[in-house]
Amino acid sequence: MSRTPFIAGNWKMNLDHLQAIATVQKLAWTLKDARHDHDDVEVAVFPPFTDLRSVQTLISADKLSIRFGAQDLSQYDSGAYTGDVSGAFLAALDAQYVIVGHSERRTMHGETDEVVAAKTAAAVKHGIVPVVCVGETGEEREQRGAGVVPVEQLNVVLGAVQPSEIVVAYEPVWAIGSGQAATPEQAQDDCAALRRAVAAAWGDEAAAATRVLYGGSVKSGNIAGFLREPDIDGALVGGASLDVQEFAAIARFR
Ligand code: PGA
Repeated sequence: MSRTPFIAGNWKMNLDHLQAIATVQKLAWTLKDARHDHDDVEVAVFPPFTDLRSVQTLISADKLSIRFGAQDLSQYDSGAYTGDVSGAFLAALDAQYVIVGHSERRTMHGETDEVVAAKTAAAVKHGIVPVVCVGETGEEREQRGAGVVPVEQLNVVLGAVQPSEIVVAYEPVWAIGSGQAATPEQAQDDCAALRRAVAAAWGDEAAAATRVLYGGSVKSGNIAGFLREPDIDGALVGGASLDVQEFAAIARFR
């Protein structure tokens, strides 16, 4: 089973809609020069909500091969949820992906595993592929062992959705924005454990088809090491996705 490598840029709360247009144009241009290298890699950006309509318009008008998604969604379809954005609205914008359960949302917005599972189900319901983030703090890794917390987090999600396409992103909290990436071996062990959890819930075939990304201080200088590992199918890139040259270099990881 071959899995298309996926390089995803999580912009977090950076770049307004005008900057987003310029960034996506520059990224498309930079990747075009390397078309032969990146044909078999899927590249997606995850801008803030206010940028999505502009990014969608640009991508569809210029028929760019870059994909896009949102950084979060509501677990509900519509109603009295001030400040939230529903999966139905994202689907209407042709968003292909949505990040769910990023550790910044889990810690700063109190999202529990159950909320993350409900949001994952909402994305699937609206035909949007959820990029489900799981990961442990350094303390949890020390106290409970490698892979334990991320697998627990993923299991709650796997119980809430039917076997379908989801992307799993293993993001150790201690590696996010710290400049201290996991080693490829560490990341491989955890990604393999997550794939085994998918197999246990949905069967071997589904597990073999599920893309598992690594995220946490990925840059052009360390991406190749991660992608050489058998269970790592791409990267969720934060800080380095804001620099077009750097992000394009990550997408050309070979
Ligand atoms: P980072 O962030 O690449 O800046 O470490 C990754 C993420 O939070 O998705």
